[in-house]
Amino acid sequence: MKYKRILLKLSGEALMGDLQYGIDPNMLKQYAQQIREVAELGCEVAIVIGGGNIFRGVQGVASGMDRVQGDYMGMLATVINSMALQGALEDAGVNTRLQTAIRMEQIAEPFIKRRATRHLEKGRVVIFGAGTGNPYFTTDTAAVLRAIETQADVILKGTRVDGIYTADPEKDPTAEKFETISYQEVYDKNLKVMDMTAFTLSEENNLPIIVFDMNTDGNLKKLILGDNVGTLVTNK
Ligand code: UDP
Repeated sequence: MKYKRILLKLSGEALMGDLQYGIDPNMLKQYAQQIREVAELGCEVAIVIGGGNIFRGVQGVASGMDRVQGDYMGMLATVINSMALQGALEDAGVNTRLQTAIRMEQIAEPFIKRRATRHLEKGRVVIFGAGTGNPYFTTDTAAVLRAIETQADVILKGTRVDGIYTADPEKDPTAEKFETISYQEVYDKNLKVMDMTAFTLSEENNLPIIVFDMNTDGNLKKLILGDNVGTLVTNK
């Protein structure tokens, strides 16, 4: 196993699958299956999931809502996705814990770093909900923050695209994929990996990022076993 402890970042939109809104149960099942495979190998898995399939702060602002109010609604949206994923994982026979950055004791533990680390050591998959608990941030930043706090070896950003390209491969057929790339090259080439707050936090703490396609069955396991999947961002 190449990575012993990972933080997996999934976007909220990915959960929509072919739907226009909300959560596609087939996507949940597919993700739960892949996560189970790596947990069974003994890999310690922490997860942060976005909320864009349900609500985004900027959506609220566009309809005249206060930004902070909208952001808290976005954070609650991530809790809904986290609970959905937790349910799917438990159905697949995986032990899980949900910890949230905003207290909601009936449904989740509050985020406590030492406790989260203990769960991981015991082989439980830990899901971190409600982002950072602060408005004006994103779940990418929450993912990097929790990865550093829990000393994950790497942050895995699951997307629809199988890595970082010279241009958007869905728009430009000549776009080429990077196998590895440095943080500096990402800045120089103005590539979009994560939002800047998340990206610089990752760089400052030497946390490698792998962008990969989570929608292809078995990819997560391949990655954990050291196969060349996706694009790796490091200090080089
Ligand atoms: N959000 C926030 N603080 C955080 C994380 C999330 O305010 O630490 C809010 C923000 O409004 C964001 C929404 O939650 O638009 C959903 O999160 P995100 O957009 O990161 O989810 P994704 O786009 O990955 O689905």
